[in-house]
Amino acid sequence: MGLVDSCGRKIDYLRISITDHCNLKCYYCTPFSGRSHLKRSEILSYEELLKVVAAAVDIGITKVRITGGEPLVRKGLVQFCRMLSDINGLKSLSLTTNGIYLEDMAEPLFKAGIRRINISLDTLKPERFEKISGYNWLSRVLAGIKSAEQTGMQPIKINTVVMRGINDDEIEDLARLTLDKPYHVRFIELMPTDSPACGNYESLFIPVEEFMKKINQMDRVQIEPATDSFGPARLCRLPGALGKVGFIAPISWHFCGSCNRLRLTADGKIKTCLFSREEIDIKTPLRTGATQNDIISIFKQAVAEKPSGHHLNAKDHQNACQRAMRAIGG
Ligand code: SAM
Repeated sequence: MGLVDSCGRKIDYLRISITDHCNLKCYYCTPFSGRSHLKRSEILSYEELLKVVAAAVDIGITKVRITGGEPLVRKGLVQFCRMLSDINGLKSLSLTTNGIYLEDMAEPLFKAGIRRINISLDTLKPERFEKISGYNWLSRVLAGIKSAEQTGMQPIKINTVVMRGINDDEIEDLARLTLDKPYHVRFIELMPTDSPACGNYESLFIPVEEFMKKINQMDRVQIEPATDSFGPARLCRLPGALGKVGFIAPISWHFCGSCNRLRLTADGKIKTCLFSREEIDIKTPLRTGATQNDIISIFKQAVAEKPSGHHLNAKDHQNACQRAMRAIGG
C-alpha cells in the first residue's frame, strides 16, 4: 500500500509549515512590503495538524518535515513534535529552522522525536549575518548547531543560499565545516521572490555550476550523480571530511521525476508542487466536520492531481517563486 501518483512516483513525504511568522528578516526571503502575518485563527491548530498528519500517514506518508516561517517561534512546538512522534507509521520527523532558538530547544526537540534537522546559515561573519538577516545573531545560530550536534541529531544539514557579492566568497569556508564535523553543508541557488534581494536578482543569482566549480577547484572532489535517496541535493565529499557538501538548484535543475513530496501551508492548503498555482483547501473541511476518511480522500485527490513536473522559463520564475516562498513559509 502507499500513495503513488499518475506518473508512478511514490509520495511518502509531507512538509508542513506551522507558522508564517519569523524572527529574522532575511534579505532574500522577507517580502519588500514586510511580512503579512496570518491571524492565529487562520493557521491550522496543532490539533488540526495532528489530524491531517495521522490521515496522511494512514495512506502512505512516512516522512514529515516541520518548517515555517520559523517553526521554533510557535509556542507548543515540542509538545506537538511529541504527539507527531507517537503517530504509528511515521518513520521520520525532521525540522527546518534558522537556529536562533535552537541552543535551548535542541534537547527537548530531540527528546520529542526530532532526529534530522536543517539549519540555515548563509555566512560565518557576524557583521554579514546582521546585514543579511537584520539581526546580529550569528553566535546564536552557531550555538544552536552545536547544541543540535550534542543531542545526537543526525544528519545536521546546513543550508546556505549563495548570492553573488554577498556571501559567495565564503563557499570554501562553509564547505570546510564538513572537514571535522559530520554536517551536510548544502549550497542553494537563489530563487527570485519579491524580497529586496530579488529586486537585484540578475546580479545576485549564481548558477549551481559556478559554485560546484569552486568546490571542485578547491579539492578536486567528484560530484556524485543525483539519486532518489539524495532528494534534490547532489553530494560530494572533501577528501578526508567527516561530512558532505551538497548542491541544490531549484532554478538550474528540476528534480520533478523523483519528487516524492506534498506540502501543507500554514493556512491549511495542500500544494502538490512548490511552483504550482494549484492549492487544495483542507482547512475548510477540517473546520466543518471532516472525518479521517474525508481527509484521506482529499490527500488522494491531491496526489492524483500532482503535476508531472514544472516547466518554468525565466519569465515564469518570479511569480512561481513567490508562490513557492508562500508554500515554504518565507
Ligand atoms: N525559518 C526556517 C529557516 O530559516 O530555515 C524555515 C523556513 S525558510 C523559508 C526555509 C529555507 O528556504 C531556508 O533554508 C532558506 O534559506 C530558504 N530560502 C528562503 N528564501 C530563499 C530564496 N529566495 N532562494 C532560495 N532559498 C530560499
